[in-house]
Amino acid sequence: MFATESGGLIKIESGERRLSMNSDSDMIYYSLEDRTYRRTNMNDFVEFRYIDGNRIARLLPESEKQLVANNFYGNVKEASLEYPFLKKHIKDYNFLKSRGNELMRIYGSRIPVVPPDRYFSLYVKISRGCPWNQCTFCELYRDQRYLPLSFDSFKEQVEKLSIFFKNSVTSMNGIFLGDANAISMGSRALNEYLFFLNSKLHMPLYAFSDAFTTPLKNIDFIKLKNAGVKRIYIGIESGNSAVLKILNKKINLKSAGEFIKKIKDAGINIGLIVMSGFGKDHVNDTVNFLKSIVYAKGDIIYISPVKEYNEFREILIENGMEKETGQKEFEYDIIRTRLKESINIPVVVYNLDEAIY
Ligand code: SF4
Repeated sequence: MFATESGGLIKIESGERRLSMNSDSDMIYYSLEDRTYRRTNMNDFVEFRYIDGNRIARLLPESEKQLVANNFYGNVKEASLEYPFLKKHIKDYNFLKSRGNELMRIYGSRIPVVPPDRYFSLYVKISRGCPWNQCTFCELYRDQRYLPLSFDSFKEQVEKLSIFFKNSVTSMNGIFLGDANAISMGSRALNEYLFFLNSKLHMPLYAFSDAFTTPLKNIDFIKLKNAGVKRIYIGIESGNSAVLKILNKKINLKSAGEFIKKIKDAGINIGLIVMSGFGKDHVNDTVNFLKSIVYAKGDIIYISPVKEYNEFREILIENGMEKETGQKEFEYDIIRTRLKESINIPVVVYNLDEAIY
């Protein structure tokens, strides 16, 4: 058995079992036998397993969450006999549930999505919802009107989060500015918010943006870079105009390329998100679009296999784009392989089912 605490993070190894939690006693990862569990800050539990070589992710129901959490803290209790510093971290499922509920109260709603490399960032809302909110494939912020938070609400949220994660904020790998387009609120106000944030919690900053509603100019991106913005994630979805029309994503691909260039010229990294599952023309045009961008170390490309919830499936059927089984996974492989032939940055999956905070 082995246990350490460093930088706001606790790790325990006991035989085949691996446990990690933060110094505020929140379970993070638990690996045993053939499966691993990740607990999100909002208290969802995602189980990962490999079946026939395929990685399967599953969200656990409440009853299973309880079993996993209580088993986790049972191991912490056992380890505390040898490592007494763990005694104060012996908790149970009710503790985790109340932590998740408290975080929900601080944010005022669930956090529906984060980029896959931001699971361990501190989520700070600057605005609610999405200024566009009309893409046919997206139901992330459907019930919310886009609204920047007032400066007072923002300050209060930052103060509360600092207390909530008081022992573990040092373990986080940055701050994610929520929700769908925090940087769309206008440059002057944005810089005021970021100045306050930096005075409280000095960490690299990350945010989503779309490539068609954000009104920022070159100089604004330079200010964002100076304020600590490290990477901006942009949903491009497709390099094919006909597919973009069906998705109701108002991207003009030439303008999107110019928008990306402005960000990159300011020295900010990009995370470009495209989808898989829309057919041969989509694959070719998307690969060509992505290849037209000049990348740098720190940029990432994400491929997100399309999620066909009921309403969107009907739109696809209406447009003769019904999927064959396995098509989106097949296209994922083709897009990734073709990009990796000439682009030397990570090209990885963005699975919406597990990209939760
Ligand atoms: S721009 Fe992004 S968040 Fe907004 S509706 Fe489209 S996909 Fe959803």
